[in-house]
Amino acid sequence: MIATGGAIGILGGGQLGRMMAMAAAQLGYRVIGYAPAGDNVAADVSHDFIEAGWGDKQHIAEFAARCDVVTWEFENVPLSAVGAVPLQLLAPHPRALETAQDRLKEKRFVEGLGGKPAPYAAVDSEDDLAGAADRIGTPGILKTVRDGYDGKGQWRIASMRDVESFRFPGRPCVYEGFVDFETEFSVILVRGQDGEVRFWDSTENVHQDGMLATSTLPAAPLIADQVDEARQIAAQCAEALGYVGVLTLEFFATRDGPIFNEMAPRVHNSGHWSIEGAACSQFENHIRAICGLPLGSTDTRYEQVEMRNIVGEDALTAHELLAETGEPHLHLYGKAEAREGRKMGHVTRVANARS
Ligand code: AMP
Repeated sequence: MIATGGAIGILGGGQLGRMMAMAAAQLGYRVIGYAPAGDNVAADVSHDFIEAGWGDKQHIAEFAARCDVVTWEFENVPLSAVGAVPLQLLAPHPRALETAQDRLKEKRFVEGLGGKPAPYAAVDSEDDLAGAADRIGTPGILKTVRDGYDGKGQWRIASMRDVESFRFPGRPCVYEGFVDFETEFSVILVRGQDGEVRFWDSTENVHQDGMLATSTLPAAPLIADQVDEARQIAAQCAEALGYVGVLTLEFFATRDGPIFNEMAPRVHNSGHWSIEGAACSQFENHIRAICGLPLGSTDTRYEQVEMRNIVGEDALTAHELLAETGEPHLHLYGKAEAREGRKMGHVTRVANARS
């Protein structure tokens, strides 16, 4: 167990690190962040923040030497950087990052545990793409194997005509059949050092342009029907990875059951509602798990919950939301520039407290 006043290292400096650092401070820990120079909004709320490159092994080792435990808030932290942190300090185990950073590895891993991804094929050239689209069919989506997020590094392939005119990005990709889903949901769990697993309720997630727009409870009945199967797969993944902390798996709810989309070895945008909507948030439970503290209840506290992302210039007028009735909970991440398509904050609305 990490004692009060202990230091938690967080690799990455974005909003997930910021909200994790706030939860850590509440529990009496100091956070030391590490990320390359940039708009590291976690630094505003951290005890200390080191800006240095992922390739700077000496700085990473010095950072780690000051920490009692080291975690991450960003799944694309290079494995070589994580490797500069002594393994016994890391939680979760870096094998989770290794799996999730590679879409092919991730799909094979989940498939091996009984999960069902959309039909897919590895694609390394225009010829491969033509073959994959022919076999799997169109429409489909081509995704880079590495470094994609929020719909970036993805191309919709509507028809074979699109395949013919497509300029291959020159990086390993995976072609996926387009899933004709009814709706989307995620399973977010926390696993403690003793292997105990708790799940938050699964919200219904709506995406716009490949990016999460809203997460809502209660979710559609189809999601409620499919959550148990999805949870079983997620729990098996966590166990196989010897996972400690918060783990997220995203699913498509289809008429034929849950189809696995992707795994995030971290707290997740679709769990932000848990700050006000659940007894213990994903951020606090992640900190509790990696510090060896008892896990908190994941129970939902309201009959209705909605989390809505605030993107781009909408952040400039977001304070106006505070005038609304119903006490919306506004979270702004303090990012310097309200660029189009950039997550700037979120607002959570809750109603009808559960007794
Ligand atoms: P991803 O970054 O892979 O999570 O994709 C972001 C969003 O794009 C998903 O949440 C879906 O809304 C959509 N999407 C991704 N892959 C597929 C697919 N194979 N079929 C249908 N929609 C998809």
